[in-house]
Amino acid sequence: MDLKHVSVRALEANEVLVDARVNAEALGLEETEMRFEGEAILSGVMSASGGQITADLALEGSAVRTCARCLEEYEDDFRHRWQIVVPAPKELTVNVLTWVREELIVEEPMSTLCDDECKGLCADCGQNLNDGPCNCPGAVKSQSPENK
Ligand SMILES: [Zn+2]
Ligand SMILES: [Zn+2]
Repeated sequence: MDLKHVSVRALEANEVLVDARVNAEALGLEETEMRFEGEAILSGVMSASGGQITADLALEGSAVRTCARCLEEYEDDFRHRWQIVVPAPKELTVNVLTWVREELIVEEPMSTLCDDECKGLCADCGQNLNDGPCNCPGAVKSQSPENK
């Protein structure tokens, strides 16, 4: 199924099941918008009636994110569900991937943490305090001494 060119007439005739694998390139996502790990699974059902197209879609995949506190990259599994309703266009086909792209960008969190408990970086030496306390004088030791 070519998700970039879904026939409006076919949608009017029948519900169309969506079951596809998409990657960042297929969605036209820039690295600054969202980084994908491999492929995500797009599934759902689309139909058209009364001059409207309705798409119930789910996207499941894994994103590579950068923690706002410790700046480490980590993988973040996501699952989104959308109901998209748009007026049927004059064109004969619709590009479902542009809808998914727009919905996905809206859902992207502004700030992400690898863990709610992330200790971040030492303001003085820059050590990742998740790896252990640093030796800066006066630094707040976030771990008890026996961990050393
Ligand atoms: Zn972190
Ligand atoms: Zn330090």
